[in-house]
Amino acid sequence: MGKIQILPESIVGKIAAGEVVERPASVVKELIENSIDAGANSISVYIKKSGIAEIKVIDDGEGIASEDVLTAFQRHATSKIKDDRDLIRISSLGFRGEALYSIAQVSKIKIITQHITENTGTETYFVAGSLKWQKPAVTRGTTIEVSELFFNTPVRRKFLKSPYTEKAHIIETFQNYCLAYPEISFSLFIDDEEILNIPETDSIYKRIWQVFGVELAENLKIKTISKDDYRVELFLGDGLKGKSKVFLNRRPVKEQSIVGNICKAFQLMQPQFIVFITVPPEEADFNVHPAKTQVRFCNPQKIHQLIFRMAEAEPSSLSSAARENMVA
Ligand code: ADP
Ligand code: MG
Repeated sequence: MGKIQILPESIVGKIAAGEVVERPASVVKELIENSIDAGANSISVYIKKSGIAEIKVIDDGEGIASEDVLTAFQRHATSKIKDDRDLIRISSLGFRGEALYSIAQVSKIKIITQHITENTGTETYFVAGSLKWQKPAVTRGTTIEVSELFFNTPVRRKFLKSPYTEKAHIIETFQNYCLAYPEISFSLFIDDEEILNIPETDSIYKRIWQVFGVELAENLKIKTISKDDYRVELFLGDGLKGKSKVFLNRRPVKEQSIVGNICKAFQLMQPQFIVFITVPPEEADFNVHPAKTQVRFCNPQKIHQLIFRMAEAEPSSLSSAARENMVA
């Protein structure tokens, strides 16, 4: 008598959720990414009790068609890729079709959405991934309300850090997408307090200014270099001491080799920079881990050469006239 069996769906769901939804900030990340992929011009995030009680994300993107809502909550359900050719040239933030499914497995979710081509949308409620009810609703874009996160996974809940730490992760995640998408207006409220509320703007420099304040922005050194389809844009400054933010094709990533090389090239004792790296989409593979914060490059040495070449030129500060022009 064999002893191997296929796990029931409820356990499969919790395992999948364990990889995608590590903490409240992971939910914020996935929902913001979906709003960006939906072409939103404005994204608002409301948090209650460090995200455990409630995470609400409201966007004005294209919305989900009534007939697609239930499918969107199935595992591996995505509108963003169709075949394996798409997989090697990904232009959206999402592509795995796992976020809504995974978040729903470990929370109670309400989604109110209407596709731009429809006159009526839907309001749908799930508890631990199972559909409770659905009714017609009229709205614009998509609102997703995640409540009682990890209510059915007490161990995951127990491993969360202090509310202060979880809030800090949420704010950092939120800031990352603000920085990478200056053309979108963003707001964040935590327990009814406005943390950030910024209109769209037209450059990353102005966005840094909106997010971190004028003093930090004014003291930044800005360096850019490009070759072929590769581009590195570096913002370096004392005000960022201890911080390193790396964005690859507008996605925040954990790339220690890039952090290390920038520190080496610019002889920094500790990281103090934000860097935006652009490579051809087919040369970066984000399909490493469900959280998509890891990446494999075809040509890592090309990026590293650019970083060192950029450092060889004397670090130049942006002239104050140019800066005034940028924030005007
Ligand atoms: P993925 O983003 O990898 O496709 P998700 O589980 O995050 O997978 O979302 C599933 C699908 O639901 C998406 O492909 C998209 O079609 C739709 N969707 C999710 N969130 C939104 C949103 N805010 N606006 C419009 N469509 C959305
Ligand atoms: Mg997604």
